[in-house]
Amino acid sequence: MKLIIVGGGASGLVAAIAAARTARKDTDVLLLEGGAKPGRKILSTGNGHCNMTNEKALPMAYYSDNTVVLDDLMARFSYRDVLDFFNELGIPSVSRDGYYYPKNREASSIRDALVSEVERLGVRVFNNTKIVKAEKNRDCFVLTAEDGHEYRGDRVILACGGMAYPKSGSDGSGYNLAMDLGHNIIQPLPGLVALTAEENWVKNFAGVRLDGTVTLQVDGIRRRSQQGEIQLTDYGISGIPVFQLSGDAVDALSQNKKTAILLNFWDNKTETDILFALKMRCKARPDWETGELLRGIVPNKCIATLLNLSKIELHVPCKTISVSSLTKLAKNLSQLTFTINGAKDFESAQITRGGVSLEDVDRNLQSKLTPGLYFAGEILNVDGPCGGYNLQWAWTSGHEAGLAAVK
Ligand SMILES: Cc1cc2nc3c(=O)[nH]c(=O)nc-3n(C[C@H](O)[C@H](O)[C@H](O)COP(=O)(O)OP(=O)(O)OC[C@H]3O[C@@H](n4cnc5c(N)ncnc54)[C@H](O)[C@@H]3O)c2cc1C
Repeated sequence: MKLIIVGGGASGLVAAIAAARTARKDTDVLLLEGGAKPGRKILSTGNGHCNMTNEKALPMAYYSDNTVVLDDLMARFSYRDVLDFFNELGIPSVSRDGYYYPKNREASSIRDALVSEVERLGVRVFNNTKIVKAEKNRDCFVLTAEDGHEYRGDRVILACGGMAYPKSGSDGSGYNLAMDLGHNIIQPLPGLVALTAEENWVKNFAGVRLDGTVTLQVDGIRRRSQQGEIQLTDYGISGIPVFQLSGDAVDALSQNKKTAILLNFWDNKTETDILFALKMRCKARPDWETGELLRGIVPNKCIATLLNLSKIELHVPCKTISVSSLTKLAKNLSQLTFTINGAKDFESAQITRGGVSLEDVDRNLQSKLTPGLYFAGEILNVDGPCGGYNLQWAWTSGHEAGLAAVK
């Protein structure tokens, strides 16, 4: 039996290991990788530290179109199994509030351990082998590489990733292979990505970093909030809390829904509490200039714009501010509205939302449309938040697809 895995990223490498460890002796496992070496994206994960999993990487943390399949898979290869798996490869882990990293905090150790194990197990790795066409005839799958070479196999795992961060090799070509083999693709959208805003004043905030709370609002309804370091840019808003909301924001935009991010500058206080605090500050220091009213609370670079948006002059005494302007300022500090009109592109996105529907695969990630074809990793329509969740999905799906494909 010959198993061909297309794509040597996180999911493809683990699929190769799981398959080679459990396959019968006469099984030939091939790993075809488009790039010069497998696992290139792993090196960039967690800013080079590789946030390999998370103790909260449970099915409900993920977005997908079939939670039954997801529940089942995540129970079979959980974050604990991942930690054991890497420990056995000589990579102990360390937890930071439930976010796991290799103990030496070097992503290269994870990549190197996986590649060494693949080699030790005798998997035949073909680098610089980008597959551009896939067919299934009566006897086998035929995969055609860019140089025209054909690879034939009895079973195939597509582990080509999505479209995010294409310089690591995941350029969306895996979707074409899935389509060649009969699958529809749910529209791929960039996920864990910065958002662009309509307002011109965002430029005034460019370069500011602050601790704040962001809330996603869709068609006027507040969906979810995230807290942490927010980055304001000349095009809109970024930072991990924004990334966490970006999947739902991009989804809403794709359905032409009115999408906004509300930014709270002040410890997530309500508008009423902020108004009260501002009134107290004005009362205590009536001769302060208006600019001084926000000093120490919001970054200096934001003060003039926030006052301007609240119709408050910059260099006048606080005692001259009307109640209605102070109320406007309180509103802007508690929920400054960024009207979202798009997201940065796949080049800067960390993941892809969309891809091969989980409805079209069984509990072992085998295609319901083309028997013998399996999927693993980001090519599937599953995505999680920042923090080790997406690698966990790559390890889980790779492991389970690898085991099943050689049974
Ligand atoms: C900058 C960055 C940081 C991240 N940090 C984290 C983190 O810390 N923690 C976390 O959980 N997640 C993180 N992620 C997300 C995580 O890296 C991915 O979700 C995960 O790597 C997906 O694994 P995969 O195997 O499905 O795809 P990929 O890792 O994208 O691998 C796909 C592989 O397939 C190959 N390939 C593609 N098409 C073909 C073809 N036609 N023929 C042959 N080969 C092909 C590619 O060259 C590539 O090597 C990060 C992502 C990015 C971009």
